[in-house]
Order: sequence, then structure tokens, then C-alpha cells
Amino acid sequence: MITGKTKIVGLIGYPVDHSLSPLMHNAAFSALKLDYIYIPLAVEPDHLGQAVEGLKAMGFVGANVTIPHKVAIMPYLDELDRSAELVGAVNTIVIRNGRCIGYNTDAQGFIQSLTSRNITIKGKKVVIMGAGGAARAVVCGLIEHGIDQLMIGTRDAGKSQEFIELFPTAINILGCNWQEKMFTDALAQCDILVNCTPIGMSAHNEVTLPINWQVLNPSAIVCDLIYNPPMTQFLTYAESHGHIVFNGAGMLVEQGALAFELWTDQIAPRSIMLGILGFNLSKIG
Ligand code: NAP
Repeated sequence: MITGKTKIVGLIGYPVDHSLSPLMHNAAFSALKLDYIYIPLAVEPDHLGQAVEGLKAMGFVGANVTIPHKVAIMPYLDELDRSAELVGAVNTIVIRNGRCIGYNTDAQGFIQSLTSRNITIKGKKVVIMGAGGAARAVVCGLIEHGIDQLMIGTRDAGKSQEFIELFPTAINILGCNWQEKMFTDALAQCDILVNCTPIGMSAHNEVTLPINWQVLNPSAIVCDLIYNPPMTQFLTYAESHGHIVFNGAGMLVEQGALAFELWTDQIAPRSIMLGILGFNLSKIG
């Protein structure tokens, strides 16, 4: 039951109507019997600053931030946690004593989606496809956790070069067009291959990722950040070539769980969050 004591968390994005985060967080609050509610808030870009002031004025305890506001919201916040500074984007806000503090839980969420499956990162060689916001979070997390070598492949070599310049202190990071020989060479060596592009989502199903499956290290683990559909063509090919595969649902749950823990100081009920997500994805997909 919602009363005047109920703590409110919002999701700021535009649009927000397809987000599964309200379901995931409200199921988690309910499982722990916490008097919290999570509500989607569609905020047009021109109103972003007013929306941040509104969260404070209306006593929200926090928020998630999604596309297209993850970078644009940063100047409106009172403080940035190191996680947000490193990734250059905010996906979680905590409101404490009337101050909005921006965090980023995507990087650690991706890492925990690997470590929760007993996959170690230190010393590994990773190939990333794509150089957008999600790739930046993934690469930040991997660098923080002692990765050995990173190869960033994109459709546009210039973009992969711009991307690697975001990590001036990282030693073993290279970027190129994913049709180049050096990309194929990296596939042969890699321990983990990650798709950080939207290729495989329904709106992008006319394109396929250019992977030479004969060359890819046979023991490489293959991840897709996409979770809807749960099995993209990329993961289907990978699985048919004998690779262990997983989709982005683990990252979605882990980044959400970390945000939940910032707002509530309670351990998030990850299995409940994953369960409700799985159920709703099967209804969509
Ligand atoms: P983004 O910032 O827009 O970056 C997308 C990247 O993919 C860019 O490098 C872009 O290259 C490339 N790309 C897009 N369309 C392409 C195409 N048709 N052919 C080749 N390259 C293409 O997006 P993002 O926020 O990083 O998100 C990427 C994916 O990760 C999305 O599917 C998103 O749903 C998913 N994601 C999942 C989670 C999770 O929790 N599981 C979290 C965040 C994101 P150009 O620069 O050349 O356009």
C-alpha cells in the first residue's frame, strides 16, 4: 500500500514505456517488504534540469537514468561518484540531504554478471564489438579488474580510435575496423567476446555481426548485452559452434541490484529480479 511514508524512486528516460526496470525493482521492494515504489517518468530532453529539481522538491530518494539522458544529466547533479566519472555517464541517482549524487552501476553490473558465473577477468583477453556508451562501461569495468588485452572492433575505424583515447592509461588496448586482419587475429586469441552494439535487436535484424566463427578461439565465452530477444542470432551462431553464451539479462539485473542496494542499504534479491525479468521477456519474445 502506498502512503505518505512510502519512499519514491523514479526512472528518468525518454521514452520509458518499454522499460522492465519498474517491474524488476517493484518486485524486489515487495519481496523484501520495503515501503518503496519505483515509477517510470518520461522526461523530454528540454525538461531534464527541471526534472532533477523536481525529484529533490518532491522528496524522491533516488532514480535510474536511461537513454537519452545518461550523459546530459551530469551537469544538473550536485556530485558525481567515481563510478560515474570513470564511465562518463550516470545511470543511478541517490538523493541524500537534498543533494543528487550520480553513480554508474553498469560497469560493475557487467563485471558481476561474469563473476557470478565464476568467470575470472584478471589476465584475460577480451574482444568488444561496438564503441558506444555500453562499451565504455564494459571497458571501464574490465580495466578496473585487471584485464590483459582489449580489442575494440567497430564498423568505422575512426570511432574505435576515438574510443580508445578515452582510456589513456590503459596499456593493451587496440581498436580497428572489425573487417581488418588484426581484428580476426584478436578473435583467435580471445577469452571473452562481447557484443556491445544493438545488432540483433529486432530493429537491427537486417545486419549480422561479422565474426569468423572458424577463427574464434574455441574456448571463448560469448556475451551479448542484448537481452530482448534472449537469444540473438549472434548467440545462436556462437552456441552452434560450441561456445558458452549468455545474454544481457545478467548485466541488467546486476546493475539494477547495485542501484537497489544504494537506495535501500539492503542486499538486492537478485533471483527475484531475474525471475520476473525472465517471465516478462518470455511474454515479449
Ligand atoms: P550506443 O551508445 O548507441 O552505441 C552503439 C554502438 O553500436 C556504436 O558503436 C554504434 O556504431 C554501433 N552500431 C549501432 N548500429 C550499428 C550497425 N547497424 N552496424 C554496426 N554498428 C552499429 O548504444 P549503447 O547504449 O552502447 O547500447 C548498445 C547495446 O547494449 C544496446 O543493444 C543496448 O540495449 C545494450 N545494453 C544493454 C545493457 C544491459 O544491462 N544488458 C546495458 C546497456 C546497453 P556507430 O557509432 O558507428 O553508430
